[in-house]
Amino acid sequence: MKLDSLDGLMKPKSVAVVGASATPGKIGYTVIQNLQKDGYKGAVYPINPNATEILGYKVYPNVTSIPEAADAAIITVPAKFCLDVVDECGRKGIKNLIIITSGFSEVGDKELEEKMVETAHKYGSRILGPNIVGICSNSEKFNGSFAPFLPLEGKSSLISQSGALLIAIDASSYIRGVGFDKLISIGNMADIDFADLVTWLDKDENTSCISMYVEGFKDGRTFIEACQKASKPIIALKSGVSAHGAAAAASHTGSLAGAAKVYGAAFQQAGVIQAADLDDLFDRSLALSLQPPMKGENLLVLTNGGGVGVLATDAAEKYGVPLKFAPADVQAELKKHMPEFGSAKNPVDMTGMAGNEWYYATTKFSYAHKWVDGLVVLYCETAMTNPLEIAQSIKKAVDDSGVKGKPVTVSFVGGERSVNAMRWLVDHGIPAYGAPDLAINAIAALREFYKMKEIVNEAPISCEGFQYEQAVEIINKARTEGRDSLTEIEAKQVFSIYGLPVTATELAKTEDEAVALAKKIGFPVVMKIVSPDILHKSDAGGVKVNIKDEAAARDAYQTILKNAKAYKANANIHGIAVQEMAPWGTEVILGSVNDPTFGPTMMFGLGGIFVEVLKDVTFRVAPVSQNQALRMFSEIRGAPILAGVRGEAPRDREALADVICRYSSMIIQLQDEISESDANPVLVYEEGKGVKVVDARIILKKKA
Ligand code: ADP
Ligand code: MG
Repeated sequence: MKLDSLDGLMKPKSVAVVGASATPGKIGYTVIQNLQKDGYKGAVYPINPNATEILGYKVYPNVTSIPEAADAAIITVPAKFCLDVVDECGRKGIKNLIIITSGFSEVGDKELEEKMVETAHKYGSRILGPNIVGICSNSEKFNGSFAPFLPLEGKSSLISQSGALLIAIDASSYIRGVGFDKLISIGNMADIDFADLVTWLDKDENTSCISMYVEGFKDGRTFIEACQKASKPIIALKSGVSAHGAAAAASHTGSLAGAAKVYGAAFQQAGVIQAADLDDLFDRSLALSLQPPMKGENLLVLTNGGGVGVLATDAAEKYGVPLKFAPADVQAELKKHMPEFGSAKNPVDMTGMAGNEWYYATTKFSYAHKWVDGLVVLYCETAMTNPLEIAQSIKKAVDDSGVKGKPVTVSFVGGERSVNAMRWLVDHGIPAYGAPDLAINAIAALREFYKMKEIVNEAPISCEGFQYEQAVEIINKARTEGRDSLTEIEAKQVFSIYGLPVTATELAKTEDEAVALAKKIGFPVVMKIVSPDILHKSDAGGVKVNIKDEAAARDAYQTILKNAKAYKANANIHGIAVQEMAPWGTEVILGSVNDPTFGPTMMFGLGGIFVEVLKDVTFRVAPVSQNQALRMFSEIRGAPILAGVRGEAPRDREALADVICRYSSMIIQLQDEISESDANPVLVYEEGKGVKVVDARIILKKKA
């Protein structure tokens, strides 16, 4: 059965309210009252076997008896009756069920919830909720919820996983002056999830920015895919950033992959801007809903006050849109609209003498100039000027410039008159904020949106051509021996199937074999213990590097064995790995985990204290494209080390990015086999000289 498109959910022409009540104060009454008082124009069918009329609407005894298959049903009956109602709605042909009722999976009853979804899908119907406030839509004048009123009108739509927060946001929209077209309560997400709503809202003519409050996704991958396909800006506030399930992790990567970091990575990949807090969600969704993306990096700031100009300059650097001096011709023109002591550099300080005319002239010229990719106009309230007139001058200048498709944001610092002037600006499509850093942060979001979309569109490398079967064979062999991890030698074999550059490594079972292998590989060599019971080889004294000759090799062989036995008397020892000694390079760690929400996920960080102490690592949900991998390098605090510090040549980031792409393909293809893994360390050489994986670890998924 094909599932419904959700048009009837978001824009219902008629609604049934199952569990409608004639008793004020009950949710079943509030919903009817809200539909009526907020101006819903469609047909309303209250359903209640014990009433005949509620607020002037004719009441029906059951779903079957209403005169048409309504587009949507709002369901408020107690949980135990919901399954029957879902079935009755299905038989009636009602395709969209807004289940407000609570008492399902949020209190542990997952089964009933699943049954409702199963039943609904049988009829092609969809369920929003259960355990929700409902839907508010300004463009439909549809308050299908128990929230007290429709939010202030606006162009972004918000999806909230918290009902209480949704009601609070609804109310605060009026105080903040930041409006919404739709507020959608998503609740338990038994059926309709964030991905479904993102897909629908992306096509909605009344939504120009999708905002969301997220506690957690059920299926992170469909979310990423839906967002990648969307063309509108999306901004998410994620709560619950404490680590989860990290304690029992077997690998380094596992212990570093907290939910917050993986969510952060997923948002990056999805092209979703992450809000820092609730204020930020409002502030930046306002800009994203009103203004176009910023396509280049040149930001110009106009101001009448030096102080706010400097604050804006600081913020510009902080938010990733650092100011550059405007070209000479731009400066020369701007100079005409300020006193001698003004500054036409960037920020352009017209001084406190600036009035409507100067604001108009500089805004119009700057906005139209091809060098300027984005404009921020700042204003400090002065005794000589009228904030509303300044606001009107700015707006008129933008309109008169003849240019479109460039973002502008504004900040007025002042009193009530400034606040009112900013309201006027927002009403006229220009986002305005009470502090200069907020105006900068807002335009930075428009820049980030543009840059993210560019990266999102790049395809990751394909898995075709990798010898999946060979890898599984190696893994199965380990499994038949009752192991849940691969030895370094086996892990390196798997890695090399995916084209990762591993050091040549072979297993010696006797001292003589070790010597022969060392000669074959060529001194100096590295020797290591190979034992499924010793995962951290150095801890057991199981690694000897820089072995220069036969005598040293014989010595190393014996010492490693002795150390291993001392470390773990009954360790099962396969032998000693003899391997090529890689030249010194910058040590990095690559790793993978299977995230509970997003599945196979890559980690990257610098080795040594950077990862051990500073936990300076970053993540990407696999598969990772080359561009995404390159972006990972700039996200860690140790980024300059790869870029080349203190006269050192830059490291081969292209080669490392390629390894990350391949690694990420491997963990996708082998996702039923690999639970966690790492390549620690990978040595990274100078640009053009590649990388070398010198240690490999793969932990297998437990199979039933
Ligand atoms: P483990 O992590 O299990 O303790 P490794 O194989 O990572 O063992 O070895 C420990 C350290 O020895 C590595 O961090 C690296 O500095 C060095 N090392 C290991 N193998 C090589 C190699 N083939 N070439 C150069 N250095 C190596
Ligand atoms: Mg290691």
